[in-house]
Amino acid sequence: MLIPFNKPFLTGLETKYIVEAVDSGKISGDCIFTKKCHSFFETSFGFKKVLLTTSCTHALEMAAILIDLQPGDEVIIPSYTFVSTANAFILRGAKVVFADSQTCNPNIDASLLESLITSKTKAIVPVHYAGISCDMDVIMDLAAKYNLWVVEDAAQAIDSYYKGRDGIKKPLGSIGHLSAFSFHETKNIIAGEGGMLAINDNRFITRSEIIREKGTNRSEFFRGEVDKYGWVDIGSSYLPSEVIAAFLFAQLENLNHIQLKRKSLWERYSENLSDFAAIFNLQLPYVNSYATNNAHMFYIVCNNLRQRSALIDFLKSKSILSVFHYLSLHSSQYFKGKHDDRALIESDRYSDCLLRLPMYYELTIMQVDLICDYIKEFFNLQKDPISTLKTQETSMV
Ligand SMILES: *Cc1c(COP(=O)(O)O)cnc(C)c1O
Repeated sequence: MLIPFNKPFLTGLETKYIVEAVDSGKISGDCIFTKKCHSFFETSFGFKKVLLTTSCTHALEMAAILIDLQPGDEVIIPSYTFVSTANAFILRGAKVVFADSQTCNPNIDASLLESLITSKTKAIVPVHYAGISCDMDVIMDLAAKYNLWVVEDAAQAIDSYYKGRDGIKKPLGSIGHLSAFSFHETKNIIAGEGGMLAINDNRFITRSEIIREKGTNRSEFFRGEVDKYGWVDIGSSYLPSEVIAAFLFAQLENLNHIQLKRKSLWERYSENLSDFAAIFNLQLPYVNSYATNNAHMFYIVCNNLRQRSALIDFLKSKSILSVFHYLSLHSSQYFKGKHDDRALIESDRYSDCLLRLPMYYELTIMQVDLICDYIKEFFNLQKDPISTLKTQETSMV
């Protein structure tokens, strides 16, 4: 039986709620189900204000508009991330300055950030890779010192937390001035395509509603706060229909249930592979003492690209699909001519060596054990120089 890398999980209520949304006769955005989703996030996680969006990409684009970037302003972003994290700011004419990852995990190395800040720097965009928090105290201190905005890319970070020096556990996405979540079908909680902007700074609240509604004050009009609405700012159409919100609400109602299952699978991977990884010098996800784990992803970092390719092929031959992840954005086709000459060694290492293992609600503990057994078999075979040679040969064809 094939074990895919990801399989979207349906709670069973999605279609029921979609029918309810359709039957209500109001299927454009910001009706019953959107409101239910908003209040879920505001009450369960204490976000000051959230707005569902059509994607995390769009939430990031909204953030880039909100912080009023001028052409030439600089934004510091990790190179090891999804295209949208950087592209949203490039669209506003900003200059992206890429930072390297930590050695212990792919999150931005906060200790390097101060050296990248110039008089043009406007924002830092930490990405909580695999749902594990960046070192937010260091980042927020720098932001205060240099008067910068912090936009969290919390695409993978639903239901994960940061506990900084004040000892208070804060949900990821509630710390920066703005943050963006994703409900793409590869994330823990899904809507097919969908996202959310969390607004943690009051100064952005009114304008965020306007930008999301094509630059109009339509939201205020529907609340009866103004007697007509019109064009007041720039914007676009960033609000999802009720059909998307209905799907999402079914998932949110099952958040704890989904998370418990994912965490049990993640723990099983970790138990199976920890000792083994140490012997073979493989790196596993590292949860810093200030971070929690939302079981978004389980990965192993191989020793080199060739070993990773061979492992992907070996697992595939056993009907297990594993996938690598980002390619450093600083050396992408689009950006490579724009990057300064700093080497981003860790980002390149994760590009070459990080491998994501199957992780989805319907995966079973037995399947996790099987996957881990095959991984062990692969590395044990590699110890034998003859079979190492063989796997290398097959990886090249
Ligand atoms: C998934 C993801 C995105 C994009 O999310 P969409 O909802 O597909 O636009 C952005 N950043 C990171 C880190 C992601 O993992």
